[in-house]
Amino acid sequence: MSSESAVVSSPQEPFLLLILSSPSGAGKTTLSARLRARFPGLRFSVSHTTRKPRANETDGREYHFVERASFERMVLEDRFVEWAEVHGNLYGTSEGEIERARASSDGVLFDVDYQGARQIRVRYPDAVTVFILPPSLQELERRLRSRASEDEPTIRRRLSNALGEIEHYGFFDYVVVNDDLQDASSRLESIVIAERSRRVRRAALAEGMLRDARAKR
Ligand code: ADP
Ligand code: 5GP
Repeated sequence: MSSESAVVSSPQEPFLLLILSSPSGAGKTTLSARLRARFPGLRFSVSHTTRKPRANETDGREYHFVERASFERMVLEDRFVEWAEVHGNLYGTSEGEIERARASSDGVLFDVDYQGARQIRVRYPDAVTVFILPPSLQELERRLRSRASEDEPTIRRRLSNALGEIEHYGFFDYVVVNDDLQDASSRLESIVIAERSRRVRRAALAEGMLRDARAKR
């Protein structure tokens, strides 16, 4: 399958919660952009965060930027499906945002850390979890440096966090090694297509069983 393959979009598609997780710099933003070009019905989840807006928010994501006190109030009011502290900032996904996306799209793409992925899975057991693995730590370091937007201590912190995140890759349904960008994109596309057809088959099976049960009554 290539990036030139047809765009796939239909409001009848079964709803998909797709969680992408990776150490920073592994290529999650790049891969998400490609995936959304291929499946325009897939929306990014909109997170709340206490981090400050950047001069250029280039990854296509939207955030609600809030003060720490507001974020903490939302935690106490139990408004988050998941939240975590990442690189010193708080990030969270509210239930309201997921329900809004459910009403207006045929899938939600989450870009969350491992803690967030686990919490979403508890709430939505049907969510599909994918870990994007860099081909090596040397390559991860090269990519972090290629972004040229971060200072040395930040790069060092991201590299040391990467080891902690990679340790958890066994939790995920799929692991995609992002070595060759085209290969990794194709693999992600295949995962979306396979998971959607699994849901279609399961819904058809349930419908057939209900029909049989009603006929026997
Ligand atoms: P993340 O969102 O996981 O932090 P990015 O998508 O920003 O990572 O990617 C980090 C850097 O690595 C970017 O400069 C991006 O262009 C580059 N990159 C992503 N995937 C690949 C790849 N397969 N091969 C080479 N460079 C890549
Ligand atoms: P950034 O601030 O660069 O957009 O995101 C930094 C990190 O925070 C990323 O690794 C991303 O996975 C994580 N992140 C972004 N939004 C959320 C969220 O809503 N919940 C959690 N748990 N992590 C998030």
